[in-house]
Amino acid sequence: MTHSSPVWHPFTQHAVMPDFPVIDSAQGAYLTAKNGQRLFDAISSWWVVTHGHCHPQIIEAIQAQAAKLDQVIFAGFTHDPAEELAEKLIKLSPGGDKNADGLSHVFYSDSGSTAVEVALKMALGYWKHSGEDRTRILVMEHSYHGDTIGTMSVGERGVFNAPYLPLMFGVEKVPFPQVGAEQASLDALQTACAKGDVAAFILEPLVLGAGGMMMYSADCLAKMAAICKAHDVLLIADEVMTGWGRTGTLFASEQAKICPDILCSSKGITGGSMPLAVTLCKSKIFDAHYSQDRTKTFFHSSSYTANPIACAAAVANVRLWEEEPVQERVDNLAQMQSAMLSCLMASGLFANPRQAGTIIAVDVAVEDGGYLADIGPRLYRHFLAGGYLIRPLGNSLYLMPPYCSTKEDLEGAVACMIEGVKGL
Ligand SMILES: *Cc1c(COP(=O)(O)O)cnc(C)c1O
Repeated sequence: MTHSSPVWHPFTQHAVMPDFPVIDSAQGAYLTAKNGQRLFDAISSWWVVTHGHCHPQIIEAIQAQAAKLDQVIFAGFTHDPAEELAEKLIKLSPGGDKNADGLSHVFYSDSGSTAVEVALKMALGYWKHSGEDRTRILVMEHSYHGDTIGTMSVGERGVFNAPYLPLMFGVEKVPFPQVGAEQASLDALQTACAKGDVAAFILEPLVLGAGGMMMYSADCLAKMAAICKAHDVLLIADEVMTGWGRTGTLFASEQAKICPDILCSSKGITGGSMPLAVTLCKSKIFDAHYSQDRTKTFFHSSSYTANPIACAAAVANVRLWEEEPVQERVDNLAQMQSAMLSCLMASGLFANPRQAGTIIAVDVAVEDGGYLADIGPRLYRHFLAGGYLIRPLGNSLYLMPPYCSTKEDLEGAVACMIEGVKGL
């Protein structure tokens, strides 16, 4: 049987999911469907919405910019929103502007995947133009960096990308630093770096999102950064999910007091309102491409690079961080989430509780815990019917709500999770 709409949805098996809610509007932490149903957006519409949907200042900035300058080629031209945003990002970035070796340049693109592709190209270009033959990329086990060929190559291999394996390039994997097994992971990184031809190590700082909200300590992240530094291996921090307050600080890298050589940001950069991404890098990377020799140009662009409307939305987001008590909201949400995690664990239905700032996650104890475990879709439908947008990741359940969520919202979500798992 064929699906009645021509739309092919992402990460969706249409054969088992024939129809879905039509969302008509959103406000704060809630989505409203055409049939009138309200849904608490407990996953921030796939990790992008930070302050809440349709934040008035962000919407106002979008409207004003759209009426003034909608789009302009960004090769050979610039505009105020991109310039202003870049200045602000450098000031806010971990280690940026505070020391001579901080992040100093901003390259624009339009999604997390492209931000990572740009980071990989920057790293390879840096070594090539510096005259060193370093092309190997190290990755962390269970990572996710996007769905393009390059980002799949540096991410975990599995059911999601099996058909595309022939197109993917080889990388070397560092084991995930499980609690108690951090040293093995650090040793593996050390051994890999010592081989000498490593261009970069890419990781998700503190939380591996799509890998199942797997978390590791800031201390371990700091040690990994130190190993990279000792071997001149570029550290790429993919903060696409972890940025903009999600892990309790503006960027997760701050908690380890590290300054990566390259940092990718997207998702929450516009507060979740417009597609935009940035790849920040240190001056040595920019400088390696800076030459009268035009073959050293950084040959990368996409049509909507630094779209002015998206940049204006991001400037409005940064202003909210500067002018409103956003950090206080993040702290409050993190505290409430900690209580929610205790509540989930008190039910006796879950294992492996974990938290990083505003994110909490637990595992449902089941025999087949892979991503395709059949409990996922069943629980998902239960949550939707109850008015909660909660998407299980295999046998892991997590809450990553917008910062305007209330205690009542979270309590309702937790009650719905417990009820759903009891009913399995
Ligand atoms: C979502 C995500 C990406 C990919 O971002 P898109 O905007 O979906 O391309 C990359 N890295 C991480 C860590 C992510 O969570």
